[in-house]
Amino acid sequence: MRSFDAIVIGAGQAGPPLAGRLTAAGMQVALIERKLFGGTCVNTGCMPTKTLVASAYAAHLARRARDFGVDVPGPVRIDMQRVHARAATVSANAREGIEHWLQGIQGCTVLRGQARFESSHTVRVDDQLLTAPRIFINVGGRAVIPDFPGIDTVAWLTNTTMVSLDFVPEHLVVVGGSYVGLEFAQMYRRFGARVTIVEKGERIVAREDADVSASIAEILGGEGIAIRTNAECIRLARHPDGVEVGVNCSEGDPVITASHVLLAVGRRPNTDDLGLEAAGVATDSRGYIKVDDSLATNVEGIWALGDCNGRGAFTHTAYNDFEIVAANLLDGAQRRVSQRIAAYALYTDPPLGRVGMTQTQAQASGRRLLVSQRPMTRVGRAIEKGETQGFMKAIVDADTQRILGASILGVGGDEAIHGIIDIMNADVPWTVLRDAVPIHPTVSELIPTLLGDLQLVGDSAESAIPQ
Ligand SMILES: Cc1cc2nc3c(=O)[nH]c(=O)nc-3n(C[C@H](O)[C@H](O)[C@H](O)COP(=O)(O)OP(=O)(O)OC[C@H]3O[C@@H](n4cnc5c(N)ncnc54)[C@H](O)[C@@H]3O)c2cc1C
Repeated sequence: MRSFDAIVIGAGQAGPPLAGRLTAAGMQVALIERKLFGGTCVNTGCMPTKTLVASAYAAHLARRARDFGVDVPGPVRIDMQRVHARAATVSANAREGIEHWLQGIQGCTVLRGQARFESSHTVRVDDQLLTAPRIFINVGGRAVIPDFPGIDTVAWLTNTTMVSLDFVPEHLVVVGGSYVGLEFAQMYRRFGARVTIVEKGERIVAREDADVSASIAEILGGEGIAIRTNAECIRLARHPDGVEVGVNCSEGDPVITASHVLLAVGRRPNTDDLGLEAAGVATDSRGYIKVDDSLATNVEGIWALGDCNGRGAFTHTAYNDFEIVAANLLDGAQRRVSQRIAAYALYTDPPLGRVGMTQTQAQASGRRLLVSQRPMTRVGRAIEKGETQGFMKAIVDADTQRILGASILGVGGDEAIHGIIDIMNADVPWTVLRDAVPIHPTVSELIPTLLGDLQLVGDSAESAIPQ
């Protein structure tokens, strides 16, 4: 049995920086990784997908070159092997960087293999037994494989296999019209595939407001992506051309023939093969590790960070989990997950930058709301760039004067949203941002103008707008 001060399971987005801080504080740390250093984000998530999105954007812009007065002789051709190689290199550089850094940390023992609890404070990695008074679980998640009829009879893709494709499928059917599915759908359409999105809900990205979903659907539809919503009883079967996808949609063909099928119907935590029962660590019905507001599990000395705790599904939330745990343990802080304001982006083009509540959520909370909306056709920078799709929207609590949430679907939306993220974190009235002097010409410069147009909505609309 090897004894450590701390064991970190998983080298995703929280584990490595935590190992760095714990060792810097003088602890002996064992860090265990079973597969690829950097986890999902670096290897099969954010990094390869955003690199591929950049290639797809280049192709899209090249096709639109004439709009900008630029002649591209001949049709745009995609060299998918080079597209793939570019993404693979970006991931490999980051992966190797993390592993190399971890190997070089004094006091950090890096172990490769599957970690499994044998008791609340012992963990097995192959033939080694480790023990520590503090154990940090950062095991992440993986794609859900739905039990569609016929799923075992056909080949299918997930985000993991998608990022290693070095060819363009003839017809890609994307099952699941949410964040992961939409990014792949648009990029492969731009690489030249025929793409159909099959979504069982009545609209794509249903967590967003209906106007946001509708605008994204219009953008994707405008690029020739077919969207099939209300897809009931999805089933798969072999077909000479690839896969037959059965969809009993309310309208349209009940069967789609695809060359390839991507399953993007959600994620599940990697907690089923971790021996959590032996440790007595409690999970919820979907396998997420239950944690309190400081990310402690029900077992003293065990914390869960990142996607596996169900409190976030992003790289920045996993990293913030590390910051919370490290600050509380090492700096005597009292940081809490509930202090975090939700923010994320959907990397379609144009991207969707999001923070806080949707309008639907804000309305359901019963608050008096001020709302303002502005199309990107009225944003100078978007006009200059020739990219005027989408709109921006802000929602404010009419009584507290605090911004509750915002959506910026438009060119630069993933960056511009940070003005609103920052003002929400500063917890100051919306008027502070309205009265700020932004840089011209930017997408962000229209945010004060957007806020200047706030109107009361709903039952309280007859009241005066507080300034
Ligand atoms: C296609 C796609 C695109 C995405 N794009 C974005 C984006 O643009 N922005 C964003 O913020 N988020 C994005 N995400 C989400 C993001 O990748 C995750 O939220 C993030 O990686 C979670 O980090 P984590 O540390 O919790 O887990 P992970 O990064 O998944 O790391 C967990 C690690 O634990 C290891 N592990 C698991 N079990 C064991 C075990 N028993 N023993 C040893 N090791 C184990 C795994 O091998 C893995 O390396 C995307 C996800 C996908 C799928």
